[in-house]
Amino acid sequence: MLSPTEAFKTKECIFCKIVSGTLPSEKVYENDNVFAFRDISPQAPVHILIVPKKHITDVLDVSVSDSAVFQNLFQAAQQIAAKLGIAGSGFRTVFNSGDHACQTMYHLHLHLLGGTQMGGSLVG
Ligand code: 5GP
Ligand code: ZN
Repeated sequence: MLSPTEAFKTKECIFCKIVSGTLPSEKVYENDNVFAFRDISPQAPVHILIVPKKHITDVLDVSVSDSAVFQNLFQAAQQIAAKLGIAGSGFRTVFNSGDHACQTMYHLHLHLLGGTQMGGSLVG
């Protein structure tokens, strides 16, 4: 049972709506715990967002009881990288949390970026 706060967040959250199918997305992967889809404004030839189906706000909001979710996020990253042909060439995975990281969507998401040679700077 969701608390009233959680229920409100879930109702308003775009990524929760994508997970439930209320909003469309270009799905690339799904399992019991996570859902992955193409970023609407890709910053690399391959730019996928992998999100927990459960509403988690950001890295600070992750708890020990979410360990299966986290395992699934990384399993999804491995499988998607293989499926989209970037496992061999390499890819970048990023979680943004909060203002300094320019987080804009407050439903935890793992960016999976690849398909091009990226620069070495992570903070540019
Ligand atoms: P953040 O800046 O929070 O780490 O990343 C949010 C990402 O979500 C951005 O890369 C942005 O392009 C993507 N995004 C925002 N709204 C939507 C949407 O409605 N659909 C999809 N597929 N991606 C979105
Ligand atoms: Zn959400």
